[in-house]
Amino acid sequence: MKAKKSGGVLKAVARTHGGVGVAHNKNTAEMEVERMPAPAQVILPMQQHIGVPCSPIVKVGDMVAVGQLIADSEKYVSAPIHASISGKITKIGETPLPNGVISQSITIESDGEMRPFEGITPPTVTNREELIKAVRASGLVGLGGAGFPTHVKLNFPPDKNVDTLIINVAECEPYITVDYRECIDNSWDILSGIFTLKELLGIKNVIIAVEDNKPAAIKELRKIADNSNDTDDTVKVMVLKSRYPQGAEKVLVQATTGRRVPPGKLPADIGCMVMNVASVAFIARYLKTGKPLVSRSLTVDGSAIANPKNVRVAIGTNVGDVIDFCGGFKEDPYKIITGGPMMGLAIIGTDLPVLKQNNAILALAEKTRRVKREMDCIRCGRCANVCPMDLMPTLIARFAKVKDAEKIKQTGVTVCMECGSCSYACPSGIPLVQYMRLAKTILAEEGGKK
Ligand code: SF4
Ligand code: SF4
Repeated sequence: MKAKKSGGVLKAVARTHGGVGVAHNKNTAEMEVERMPAPAQVILPMQQHIGVPCSPIVKVGDMVAVGQLIADSEKYVSAPIHASISGKITKIGETPLPNGVISQSITIESDGEMRPFEGITPPTVTNREELIKAVRASGLVGLGGAGFPTHVKLNFPPDKNVDTLIINVAECEPYITVDYRECIDNSWDILSGIFTLKELLGIKNVIIAVEDNKPAAIKELRKIADNSNDTDDTVKVMVLKSRYPQGAEKVLVQATTGRRVPPGKLPADIGCMVMNVASVAFIARYLKTGKPLVSRSLTVDGSAIANPKNVRVAIGTNVGDVIDFCGGFKEDPYKIITGGPMMGLAIIGTDLPVLKQNNAILALAEKTRRVKREMDCIRCGRCANVCPMDLMPTLIARFAKVKDAEKIKQTGVTVCMECGSCSYACPSGIPLVQYMRLAKTILAEEGGKK
């Protein structure tokens, strides 16, 4: 299917199934990212990515500088961890993560100096292998929330014939605006990152996919796409309808290329690679400076936050400190979330560290609670209508309730991306996404028995 160019931008090539219209609440879109002063302490968990946790390579009492390697793993699917402030290692212990998992962690007490590590130098990168090695050394994981080590994604086997790089600027979750700010504030880093990936990975086409509720970002991105470096016109901006979960990898691949990722497969299997826009800009900055991933931007918003902001914080900063930097709570929150309201994780307290993949902290006041008491299913079919993966959530929920593994298996629930659209649309207030998770757990347990 061919995309049509209209007014300098492309329109989506395929209509994707399902999705929901959510309130955008992009309240912080026009707020520049403010840098939060270095905290007195950071706690850096060893598990900040999908894959194998790191092991500390420092000991209590060591002095470290910003950007110094403090933890690593010999395993491939892992990403090293660097000191995000300068100071003394005061503890190697354990800390809870937002998902409830307990991870080994390193605590650094600040010396108040934010001394940069002297060994920081830009890497030499002239080919694919050097790029992958450098990205691993940078500690980069998907900054859009996934937390997948980026070097693994870049190292797709050559026989996959990846011909299209999709830059994800959908940012379809309500409230979050840090990717939008990246486009407005750092568009030339994005351009530089795009050309590095395109040339060194040998990818022919680039599609910068952005939702139509971000006109200023579209204008800025068009500027970089139309720049003189792109003599072959292979970098294009594609404007997509604002509809959640437009930014989900499989949905985005289909909307931008018309290709469908088969169940159990990855975008690379059908010739695509999807990269979050902030990750691409980070790669460009890392190649220029050699400064690893030690801080990140996140949106702090929600009806209970006194002064919503976009802030840049040292990785490992306490969530409560970040909220205090935004004026604290103006009302008691009924829910605090790391990430967006649709796919983020509700946390039970604020005494948790900011992780590499956290793109937002939201606190919602009681008055904004959507009161929905769970009632019986009225068989309206809305959950199936909105499911982007063509699943039947009501049926899966029914089988999950009675733990019927055989029937669950036939529903194809493993492709559920837990986007929450079904729960959002259900008029009976049934927490369908929780049942999808339960169904997957039942299948996993059943598999473990065999
Ligand atoms: S959570 Fe799963 S079942 Fe529900 S709409 Fe999203 S993909 Fe479909
Ligand atoms: S949306 Fe809710 S009420 Fe409607 S069919 Fe699905 S589970 Fe039943």
